Amino acid sequence: MKKITIAIDGFSSCGKSTMAKALARNIGYLYFDSGAMYRAVALYCMQNGLIGSKGIDTATLQERISQIHITFEADPETKNSITFLNGVNVEHEIRTIEVSQLVSKVAALDFVRSEMVNQQREMGKSKGIVMDGRDIGTTVFPDAEMKVFVTASAEVRAKRRYDELAARGDNPDYNEILENVQLRDHLDQTREVSPLKQADDALLLDNSGMTREEQMEWLIDVYKKIASEC
Ligand code: C5P
Repeated sequence: MKKITIAIDGFSSCGKSTMAKALARNIGYLYFDSGAMYRAVALYCMQNGLIGSKGIDTATLQERISQIHITFEADPETKNSITFLNGVNVEHEIRTIEVSQLVSKVAALDFVRSEMVNQQREMGKSKGIVMDGRDIGTTVFPDAEMKVFVTASAEVRAKRRYDELAARGDNPDYNEILENVQLRDHLDQTREVSPLKQADDALLLDNSGMTREEQMEWLIDVYKKIASEC
């Protein structure tokens, strides 16, 4: 079957990454987490003194943006994708609540987006990839053969993120997470550059009441149908 590009977009914490990773593994495609890239840029700002009382030092960030390289490697044991920021493994640090609170502001900067979009297009140029994010089907790969837009209620999404953080030993606060999910939805949908919205040709998947198995079955069916027609 011909290799295609699969774009999975949607709201924060609706299980996009888990589903995109599982789909990629299932069909032998490479998986790329574009949100991890924006998180890594936010972490870069925190680590390099670019966050001050007046917010992000955008002038310095703009000067340095072309020196920020994000790459992914598969963990040799778990096969999970690990994010590297200029060659350093930052997979754990980019998932903290501090990074989550900053990332949407960093992701709203046009020069950050254009650099990340260039890096994402480079990653996808041989096709055979699943990439998840907010603007993959609308901006990064508008010609992707398969586009899915995922959503679930804010409460369901906050509970999922809470469970994820609790499972790895953090001590999360559900209300803080819910507020963060709602605020990120708002920032992502209202920003000027590449706002989060469903591409006209994307299929909608509301997974509020679906099990992971049901989702996977749905995705594989859609993938087989589209790939066989290409
Ligand atoms: O997917 P995740 O929640 O890790 O993404 C973190 C943040 O990065 C999002 O809230 C959004 O602000 C930003 N993002 C984006 N465009 C993407 C992926 C993520 O603006 N393609």
